[in-house]
Amino acid sequence: MIIVVIVAAILVIVAIGGFVASRARAKVSLGRGARSTPLSTHSAPAPSIPAPSIPHGLGATLEDSAQLHEAPEPEPEPEPVADEAPNYRESLGRSRGIFEKLRAKVGRATIDQEDLDDLEEALIRADVGVATTTRILAEVAAAKKAGAQEDLLGLVRRELLGLLTTNAEGATIDRSLDDEASEGRIPVWLFVGVNGVGKTTTIGKVATARTASGDKIVLAAGDTFRAAAGEQLESWGERSGAEVIRGAEGADPSAVIFDAIQRGKARNARLVLADTAGRLHNKVNLVEELKKIRRVADREPGEVRETLLVLDATTGQNGLVQAREFLEATGVTGVVLTKLDGSAKGGVIVAIEAELGIPVKLVGLGERAPDLVAFDPEAFVDALLSR
Ligand code: GDP
Repeated sequence: MIIVVIVAAILVIVAIGGFVASRARAKVSLGRGARSTPLSTHSAPAPSIPAPSIPHGLGATLEDSAQLHEAPEPEPEPEPVADEAPNYRESLGRSRGIFEKLRAKVGRATIDQEDLDDLEEALIRADVGVATTTRILAEVAAAKKAGAQEDLLGLVRRELLGLLTTNAEGATIDRSLDDEASEGRIPVWLFVGVNGVGKTTTIGKVATARTASGDKIVLAAGDTFRAAAGEQLESWGERSGAEVIRGAEGADPSAVIFDAIQRGKARNARLVLADTAGRLHNKVNLVEELKKIRRVADREPGEVRETLLVLDATTGQNGLVQAREFLEATGVTGVVLTKLDGSAKGGVIVAIEAELGIPVKLVGLGERAPDLVAFDPEAFVDALLSR
């Protein structure tokens, strides 16, 4: 009898241990989910964690203990999840070292001309661009003159975050993605940008995130100029479960996008994501084509809620030139900056926002679906300065 009681007590202690471990795991997986920003404007359902059916306390009966004994072993600690969102610091590898000289001055309250020269060099090397660099230098010098106590790196961090938080009118920069169309209309997001920047890939990634959170998504293969773009989109459609509407090669892209919108309406889809060509016979054609696409996509039952300009971060300041051209042609509502994981130094984000006033809404930190994340200024600035 005594042995039975001892065995029962040991089993109860083991059970309590298992419960505590399973709660700890629950926290880890919730934390991981919370760290990666969902692309959906709906909140993604929290991962469901089955409640452990384990008796508490010493009042557990022998029957309970027997059940516990037969219960399966607690699951092993999960392997690192392969589709976890990447973090900026690891992805922005190329900017490492650029601010090295400034880090050597950490903690020093005074700033001299040599410090400002080092700062100028670092910002230019990081791709922030001449105009924005000049502006940051002036602000840093003025802040110091006004008695700011921070060291050089602290002041740069403050300036960069200021530029990425508040727009020229003093309002907080809105990075939300709008998918709320008027009654009876279906929201459309157009993706524009030159060839090879990552439009089709970005659409595939957005489709993957949205279908995973339960939304019905239709993709419009509006890049009819490049046959491979349609195939590429179809493959993203297969993987994500989004329906893809394609036209024949060389078909009118506006017609393909309009078909996709009608299909979306018929299927009661949540959102239509439309690809467009990045190159036509000449620039005038491209601009006219995009204007027409926008007009047609905005016609009932569609409603264009976002026109996202996709830029390749590795092209640096050249992206700014492209952005200006597209801004004139289409009412761009936000930028998707791709390939921030490549040879890009990332500072171009600051120039895009400060000089063009368009919010960077999404950034690509790799080629996989989870590598597209909402732009997080603080994580970005810290990664850039490698704090
Ligand atoms: P499109 O012509 O604008 O539609 O560009 P694609 O979507 O075809 O992309 C061109 C290439 O860029 C492809 O090889 C993509 O895998 C790659 N790409 C897209 N986004 C990213 C990113 O964020 N990081 C990296 N490293 N590659 C990317």
